[in-house]
This record gives sequence, structure tokens and C-alpha cells, in this order.
Amino acid sequence: MKLFDFVSEYPDEESCKIKFKAIRDKEGVVCRKCGGKEHYWKQDKWQYECKVCRTRTTLRSGTVMHGSQLPFRYWFIAMHLLTSTKKSFSALELQRQLGHK
Ligand SMILES: [Zn+2]
Repeated sequence: MKLFDFVSEYPDEESCKIKFKAIRDKEGVVCRKCGGKEHYWKQDKWQYECKVCRTRTTLRSGTVMHGSQLPFRYWFIAMHLLTSTKKSFSALELQRQLGHK
């Protein structure tokens, strides 16, 4: 995906948060207190709540975003740039390995 498409697909903080949550849902949230994997989603607080011990888990906790005050969108764009850079790097590397200029 090109950066422009990426930016238009995730135009604001809200869309990035929703996407980020979808990723966390897919990976699964683990309670840091009891290790429980079942959580309720608190829409108003944007937090998970453990079904067993009621410990709250924020969207950021346990991720690279933990402790960061950066908007989700910054992180998304940085991640996107990182992955696309890596790709172009390996394409260049491949060319080098094959002896092309
Ligand atoms: Zn728990």
C-alpha cells in the first residue's frame, strides 16, 4: 500500500484506534494480573476488562505503544514507513545479490 492510500484509509486517530483494537483482538489480550484471556470491551473507556479479576488493560499496554503518548496515527505511519522501507531494501539487496546495478 502506498503512503497516500494508507493515509486516506486511516484519515484520523479514531480509525487508527479501531484498527489497532482489531489487531489486538486478533492477537488476543492477556490479563497481566491473572493471565486470563477473556475480556470485556469497555467502549466508553477504550479499555479491556478481565472477566475474571476485572483488571483493566488499555489498548497500548503490552504493546510497543506502551508508555508512549504518541497518537496511534503516528505509530501507524511510522510502522508503515518501516515496513515499506524494509521491502525496498530487500528488493535492492536482492538486485545486488543477483549482480544487477
Ligand atoms: Zn485477570
